[in-house]
Amino acid sequence: MSRSEDQRIVPGEPALRAIMRRLRQIMAEPGDGQQRLDKIVRQVAGLMVAEVCSIYLRRRDSTLELFATEGLNADAVHTTRMKRGEGLVGRCAELGVPVNEPDAQSHPAFSYRPETGEEAYHSLLAVPILRAGALLGVIVVQNRTPRVYSDEDVEILQTTAMVVAEHLASGDVGGAIDDVTSGRASTTQVRGEPIADGIALGHVFVHQPRVVVTELLAVDPEAEADRLDTAVVQLRNAIDAMLQRSSIAAEGAHRDVLDAYRMFANDRGWLRRMHDSVAEGLTAEAAVERVQNMTRTRLLRQNDPFWRERLRDLDDLSDRLLRILVGRANTAFTELELPEDTILVARNMGPAELLDYDRAKLRALVVEEASAQSHVAIVAKALGLPAIGQAPGIIDQLMSGDAAIVDAETGNIHVRPSGDVIAAYADKVRFRARRQEKFRSRRDVAAVSKDGQRVQLLVNAGLAIDLENVADSGAEGIGLFRTELQFMLADAFPRVERQASAYREIIDGADGKPVTFRMLDIGGDKVLPYLRQPKEDNPALGWRAVRLALDRPGLFRMQARALMRAANGRPLKVMIPMVATLAEFRAAKELIAKEQALAAKRGQPLPEAISFGAMIEVPSILFSLDDLLPEVDFVSVGSNDLLQYLFAADRANALVAGRYDPLSPASMRVLRQIARAAERHEVPLTLCGEMGGGTIEAMALLGLGFRSISMAPASIGPVKDMVLSVDVGRVRDLIDGALDARQGGLSIRDRLRRFAETDSVDI
Ligand code: PEP
Ligand code: MG
Repeated sequence: MSRSEDQRIVPGEPALRAIMRRLRQIMAEPGDGQQRLDKIVRQVAGLMVAEVCSIYLRRRDSTLELFATEGLNADAVHTTRMKRGEGLVGRCAELGVPVNEPDAQSHPAFSYRPETGEEAYHSLLAVPILRAGALLGVIVVQNRTPRVYSDEDVEILQTTAMVVAEHLASGDVGGAIDDVTSGRASTTQVRGEPIADGIALGHVFVHQPRVVVTELLAVDPEAEADRLDTAVVQLRNAIDAMLQRSSIAAEGAHRDVLDAYRMFANDRGWLRRMHDSVAEGLTAEAAVERVQNMTRTRLLRQNDPFWRERLRDLDDLSDRLLRILVGRANTAFTELELPEDTILVARNMGPAELLDYDRAKLRALVVEEASAQSHVAIVAKALGLPAIGQAPGIIDQLMSGDAAIVDAETGNIHVRPSGDVIAAYADKVRFRARRQEKFRSRRDVAAVSKDGQRVQLLVNAGLAIDLENVADSGAEGIGLFRTELQFMLADAFPRVERQASAYREIIDGADGKPVTFRMLDIGGDKVLPYLRQPKEDNPALGWRAVRLALDRPGLFRMQARALMRAANGRPLKVMIPMVATLAEFRAAKELIAKEQALAAKRGQPLPEAISFGAMIEVPSILFSLDDLLPEVDFVSVGSNDLLQYLFAADRANALVAGRYDPLSPASMRVLRQIARAAERHEVPLTLCGEMGGGTIEAMALLGLGFRSISMAPASIGPVKDMVLSVDVGRVRDLIDGALDARQGGLSIRDRLRRFAETDSVDI
C-alpha cells in the first residue's frame, strides 16, 4: 500500500479517534472484503504498537479460521483453524468477552500452532467480534514482550471489532469470505430436547430482539450528541413515569429494579462515556453499544451475584435506550410485526412472557435454556405449541424472519431449511394430521385396557383457551386447572368478581365434566409482578403455594369466594398445592369452610358440595399418607415437584432436570406406595405431572395401580391408544418383578419399551 491518507499521523490525536478515522477511510476505499480485512489488521497493529494483529472469523461449521494477519506467517492465513473454545482465541469466542493475557504462553488454555510462528509472542489481547450478541469471530493483538493491555487498548480493539462485524453483516464481502457466517448462515440444524410435542413450519421471531446497530460511524458528531441527549431524557422520563404508575408505586422487588434503572439512567459516568464515544465519531447507537460492551466486560469480572444482576439491569437499560434511538420506544414486542406463522425463539422465557404473545400467530416455541418441567414448557403444552428446549447457541444461529422448522418429535430445529427438507416435513405434518384425525374419531371411545381396566383420562388446563381441547381430545374432564395462570396474565390482583367470571367460564365450558381447581400456586418460577414477595435464595423451597396462602389468608379466601360463586349450585372440586403437613391441609380446608359458612349466612351463591383434595408433591407427605388420606376427598400426584424434591434436582434447570428418569426404581417405588395407600383408604387418586403424558410413563403408571391420569391435551390421543392395546396385569407383573429384583437401581424404561414391542402395545 502506498503511504496513503489513512496512515497519516496526526500529532496529539487520541488513539481511539485515529483508529476511527482510519477505519472509516478503509471502508470508503475500493477493494474487496479480504483486502479490507488485510488493511484493518495492518492499521490496528501499527496504531496499538503490536507486532501482531489477526482476525479469525467463524465459519459455518463453527470453527474459527485465520482470515487476516499482520505479523504471523502469511501462509497460515486460511489454513489455521481452531474450534470454538480451543486456545485463548477459542476461549474468547466461547466466553464472548475480551481475554487479556500478559503471559499467554503460560496460560493453561494456550494452544500453539507451529504454522503461525506465534511462539515468539508472549502477550495477547483477544476481543470477540459480535453482532447483536452473535459471535462472528475474534480479533487479536500480540506482543513479544509481556504487556498488560490497557482499557484503552481494549476499547480500540472493541471498536475495530464492531466495524468488522458491520462489514461482515453488510454482505459486501465476497471471495474467500463467502463461507463465513454473517449471523445469517445458510441452512443449518440445531438439536435440542423436545418439551412439548408437535411439528411446525414457520418464521422465526426472536423474543426481545436486541436492536442491531447498523450505522457505526457518524457524519455529524454534534447532531449525534444531541440525539443521544434527547434519547436519554426520554429514557429517564419513561422510567419516572413507570415509577409513578400506581400499580408500581408501592414498595416491592419490581420497584427496586426500576429504582436501580433510574440510578443507572442518571449516572453521569455512563452518559459521559457515551458522549466520549460520540466525540470519537460513533453514532449515538454505536456509542450506547460500545459503552454497554465495556461495562459488561468490567462487571463480568465480578463474581458477586449483585453485580451480575446489575449487569442485567444495564443490558436492559441499554436496550431500551437503543429502542428509543431507533424509534421503537413504544412498541411492546407483541405489537411488533409478528409473522402469521411465528416460531418464537428465546434465550430464556417465563410463562407470563409467553402468554403475552398473540396465540393465533404462534406455531412453535424454542427456548435455549428451558427444561420439560419448566412452567414455560407447561404453558406451551397448554397452548398446544410444539416446543423445544435445551438448544444451546440457537439464538446465535438465526435472526427474526428466518424460515424454520421445529420438530418437537425428535428435537431438531431446521433453520433456513432447503426445499427438500420443507417437502419432507410437509409430508410429516400431513401424516400427523391424519393421526390426529384418527385420535379424534376415537374421542368417544372409553379408555379400557385389553384386560378390562377402565382408565380415566383428564386434561391439565389453565386458560379459557384450553376448553376447546377438553371437547376436542375427548378428555373426561379437567384433572388440574392451574388457577395461577390467569393471575400471571393480570396487571393487578384480580378482584372476586373478575375471578368468579373466569372460573364460571371454565365450569360452563366443561359442559358438566368435572373440573379440579387447584388453589393459587404462586412462588418458585411463578411470579406475580404485582405481588410483593421477599427475595429468596431458594424460591423453590420458599414461600409458595399453600404456605403463602396460609400467611396471607385474605388472597386465599377471596379465591375461595370466587370459586363458590362460580360453582353456584354445581359441585366444586378444589385442590391444595404443596401440602407438606396434614396441619397445612386442615388449615386451608378450614379457611374455605369459613368462607362457605359466611356465604351461606349472607345468602350468597354456594356450590352444591365441595370436595377437598391435596396434591402429593412434597416428599414429607409421603410419610404421613395414613394420616392425610382419611381426611381428603381425593389426591393428585404432582410428579413435577415430587420428583424435583425427591431427587433434589431443580425442575427449571436444564442441567439437572433431565438427569433422573421418572421410571427409575426410586420414583416408581414412591408412586407405587402412593397408589397402594390410596387404594387402602379408598381415596380417588390421579397423577397430573408432565410424566403422565408420555405413553411409556402412562403405561408404567397403570402397572403401578393408577387409573386416572391428567395430562396435556395433545397426549390424550396417544395415551388412549396405549390403554386400548395394553394388558395392565402384565405390566404390573413386569414392574413388580423389576422393583423387587433389585437390579442396581437401573431405570426400567428399556424393559418397558421392549415389553411394549413384544406385546404390541401402541406407544
Ligand atoms: C406438579 O408439580 O407436578 C404439578 C402438576 O404442578 P405444577 O407443575 O404446576 O407445579
Ligand atoms: Mg407442583
